[in-house]
Amino acid sequence: MKALVYHGPGQKVWEDVPDPVIIDPTDVIVQVDTTTICGTDLHILKGDVPAVTDGRILGHEGVGTITELGSAVSKLAVGDRVIISCVTSCGSCTYCHQGLPSHCLDEEGASGVGWILGHLIDGTQAEYVRVPFAEGSLHKLPEGVSDEAALTLSDILPTGFEIGVRNGRVKPGDVVAVIGAGPVGLAVIMTAGLYGASRVIAIDLDDNRLALAKTFGASDTVNSGGESWQDEVLAMTDGLGVDVAIEAVGVPSTFTMATELIRPGGTVANVGVHGKSVELKLQELWIKDVAITTGLVSATTTPMLLKLVAQGKLATEKFVTHRFSMADIVDAYDTFGRAAETKALKVAISR
Ligand code: NAD
Ligand code: ZN
Repeated sequence: MKALVYHGPGQKVWEDVPDPVIIDPTDVIVQVDTTTICGTDLHILKGDVPAVTDGRILGHEGVGTITELGSAVSKLAVGDRVIISCVTSCGSCTYCHQGLPSHCLDEEGASGVGWILGHLIDGTQAEYVRVPFAEGSLHKLPEGVSDEAALTLSDILPTGFEIGVRNGRVKPGDVVAVIGAGPVGLAVIMTAGLYGASRVIAIDLDDNRLALAKTFGASDTVNSGGESWQDEVLAMTDGLGVDVAIEAVGVPSTFTMATELIRPGGTVANVGVHGKSVELKLQELWIKDVAITTGLVSATTTPMLLKLVAQGKLATEKFVTHRFSMADIVDAYDTFGRAAETKALKVAISR
């Protein structure tokens, strides 16, 4: 088969590789019908994720059709259309029992990290992929849900909902600020209404992303390029700050911004992946009773989100801005990598 193979920083090739085979009885093989690229794949290509080694097939998102079952798989069948979750879950370790498969202990390499596809084992940017612990890691697609609508359920929608909205403890009436309106921030914005946010303020430097944020459910937008962003946001609350501030960028300054917008008693939920240490002004925050949360997506809310997508309550297909065939995946990377110019959000790459 063909697959996108990582060959060290800056190097990726769509090339011939051996077809994946069943290794463990709980595995299945999925023919990938549609896959996509995540910001994390760009981090890998920069060499920021050293656990990814030369020869690894990239990708941890996708929708496909089962072609082969391991002998212990009884709840899935050949021909089932499935969402491939970015997190693989054994279902039986202590973390899976706690509902935190993001730390599943039973993964290959026993790493204690549930994200293994396109990281520790070969991923979804390929014609076929082996999915371990398939019954805990795949979600059957109901009729009528398109590949493009389902694609965001592998990673970004559960990430925005679990690590942003749910960790941020959004409740009815809350004013929520979302810093960063990339795919993940937009997923936060799209799902903040599920818990009754009254106002969702999108904050970004890019006016195109802010305009998109409005179409994903933001009530207000603020460009943080100028001096007045903090005053503008505070003016939208009663002057005390927002109830929940969600960081969805992953740089030190945006985490600080979140702590500068939060009202006493509020919650700062960090979603962004940080590569550098971040200053924490505890000397100012303690007296405000501020809670700070972090997290790696577990994707345990994917079945719930899928029900909402199937009922047309979440229009997730809106994330897809560009379409490519698998043979053109290198062009898809180029388009996605220049998102500020190309206005790309999610690229759908189909067989
Ligand atoms: P992205 O880079 O596509 O989007 C980031 C957005 O932030 C862009 O719209 C950009 O214009 C904006 N931005 C950049 N600097 C800014 C600044 N100083 N002020 C305001 N806005 C600024 O990223 P994404 O794919 O949406 O992902 C967002 C973050 O979430 C990343 O750090 C990603 O690694 C992380 N992530 C976390 C998890 C998790 O489990 N916690 C899972 C997936 C992704
Ligand atoms: Zn587990």
